[in-house]
Amino acid sequence: MPRMRDLFARSAFCLGPYVEEFESAFADYCGVKHALGVNNGTSALHLALIAAGIGRGDKVLVPASTFVATAWAVLYVGAEPVFCDVEEASANLSVADAERRMDRAVKAVMPVHLYGQPADMAPILAFADRHKLVVIEDAAQAHGARYGNRRAGGFGRLAGFSFYPGKNLGAAGEGGAVTTDDPDLAKRIAALRNHAQSERYIHSELGFNYRMEGIQGLVLAEKLRHLDAWTEMRRAIARRYLQGLKGLPLKLPAPVGEDHVYHLFVIRTPDRDRLRQHLDRAGIQTGLHYPVPLHRQPCFAGFSVDRDSFPIADQWASQGLSLPIFPGMTETQTDAVIAALRGFFGA
Ligand SMILES: *Cc1c(COP(=O)(O)O)cnc(C)c1O
Repeated sequence: MPRMRDLFARSAFCLGPYVEEFESAFADYCGVKHALGVNNGTSALHLALIAAGIGRGDKVLVPASTFVATAWAVLYVGAEPVFCDVEEASANLSVADAERRMDRAVKAVMPVHLYGQPADMAPILAFADRHKLVVIEDAAQAHGARYGNRRAGGFGRLAGFSFYPGKNLGAAGEGGAVTTDDPDLAKRIAALRNHAQSERYIHSELGFNYRMEGIQGLVLAEKLRHLDAWTEMRRAIARRYLQGLKGLPLKLPAPVGEDHVYHLFVIRTPDRDRLRQHLDRAGIQTGLHYPVPLHRQPCFAGFSVDRDSFPIADQWASQGLSLPIFPGMTETQTDAVIAALRGFFGA
């Protein structure tokens, strides 16, 4: 790779021209004005919350069905997560439930585009508007996912992405980005990630070393060119699953048009654990995303919450099963999964 050789020759290891090139390509791709490369998705969400002015005494609405890192960011700034139940069809934030949990300390809402399916942003944005909440998207699983004519990362005042290798757009290591249309927020995040230096060795506030590595910028810029093709492969596999699993006593993903980028393909059945064993014996690996919802995690036990008030999130946690899906998965492999599932149900 001549570009990699150039990177070493220039010692462009921390931020630098390769990261800038990726940032500008990724901002264009997401349809936003600014993307700031950072060292992982959790840091991206942390800086987004700082830039949004969320801190001690504030509360932030977070869906109960998500990866724990959505809520870490809230704790990092000293705020309190208020978990919300999710939609039956998508496992994304339920506005109706969020409305019930509102109080005056709530300052922000963090919709997560879980599994690659965009949250229902129109009602979420209207709700946030009504209560003057900052919207910060967790787009870590939804690179390129569309809702209406916008892409994930372009709805909130800020959004956080992860480029962990397993994500739809993965680095050769760790990576993340914050997206925003606001030039002042972009400037502040650019400083915060680099020891809060607006000028060299002038530190205007508490800073972090959350820099993206040059190598990751180079790799991500290259991989970004392939992302739409890879997403198409995921969608083709999902269509084959949806067709092949029709009629089985399963709940299947219910996508809206072409919005879903299928980071994961999650089915639901009350018989999940037995089905998982059956597939495992057939040599088919499945995943659980996520077996314990946030309102039942020991790390949040200190926050007062009625743990039994999240029936839908509990259902996704106990019934959800992630089937194999990845670009390059063959039709033969997909059909083998379908056959094993049909076998389990005697269909
Ligand atoms: C992966 C992920 C994160 C965290 O990203 P890291 O790069 O692992 O720090 C945050 N939220 C969600 C929903 C994720 O899937």
